Amino acid sequence: MLLDDNFMNLLDDFFEGIYVIDKQRKIIFWNKEAEKITGYKANEVVGKSCSDNLLKHVDKNGNELCEGNCPMVFAMDKKIKLEDEVFLHHKNGFRLLVRVKGIPIIKDAEVKGLIELFVPKIFTNEGNHVDDLINLAYRDSLTKAYNRKGFDFIYPLRQREMALLGFHTAILFFDIDDFKKINDTYGHDVGDRVLFAVSQTFIRSLRRDDIVVRWGGEEFVLILFLRKLGFLNEIGSKLVRLIESTFIHYSDKIIKITISGGGTHLRKEEDILQAINRADSLMYEAKKKGKNQFISDLN
Ligand code: GH3
Ligand code: MG
Ligand code: MG
Repeated sequence: MLLDDNFMNLLDDFFEGIYVIDKQRKIIFWNKEAEKITGYKANEVVGKSCSDNLLKHVDKNGNELCEGNCPMVFAMDKKIKLEDEVFLHHKNGFRLLVRVKGIPIIKDAEVKGLIELFVPKIFTNEGNHVDDLINLAYRDSLTKAYNRKGFDFIYPLRQREMALLGFHTAILFFDIDDFKKINDTYGHDVGDRVLFAVSQTFIRSLRRDDIVVRWGGEEFVLILFLRKLGFLNEIGSKLVRLIESTFIHYSDKIIKITISGGGTHLRKEEDILQAINRADSLMYEAKKKGKNQFISDLN
């Protein structure tokens, strides 16, 4: 037995596609996620060899890997873990780019097989000229949020598109609570890390079309495109709660962060700056009411 049965059962529940091959590269285990990613059921592949016209991995340049250049054979030969990006063959015929990691199974100093983990590679915008330019000129280098120039550039384009699709425009204005105290107590570098953490929490919890702008020092404007305006309060409060649970480490201390926010929506015939000012005033109300909360003019 190459691997313990209990261990194999455990592998079924991983988020990664996982398969196990023996020394002869015969597939002896194929987990549930591997079935989802490739379209092949375990009973279609277990017992087969990886080159049996099944996965037919090819490298990024289109060269076949199974006949001779298999990185997993290399990993077994050299007894090393190996990471790579390869195209595999999906049951429906198309090529799928996956990140793979091969871990040789070594017992008594001898290689017995290999576990391969794989996840589909999500296409990022790497290498996209327009995005490269936008990121360079239009994003703030510390927080990676849009800067004001980026907002001026991206907002009219996005707004036109989203309005045509029937989305409402919501504006949220957030300001970090007692930020001066964080700077004064722990130093400017810690303040910078707090800014980064807050900005990244915004960016990563919103949708791709939403716009996160570093409006001023520790102030952020978020433009959200909503199917229903009613989602505004829910999202605003969620962001306040998310930041409340955010912290950063400083030597042996934990520094907690909170924000206050105001929210409104873009009214007909109104300039976006008017709506942003209104959201700013509502944020100020949230400060007066004790901070760490979100207030909107929507009931
Ligand atoms: P409140 O809860 O009322 O918002 O109080 P506050 O201390 O957050 O507000 P205040 O506007 O007095 O503080 C903002 C501080 O943000 C002052 C400024 O030094 C700091 N700041 C602005 N830009 C940066 C930056 O890029 N990095 C760091 N570390 N601090 C910054
Ligand atoms: Mg401020
Ligand atoms: Mg502040």
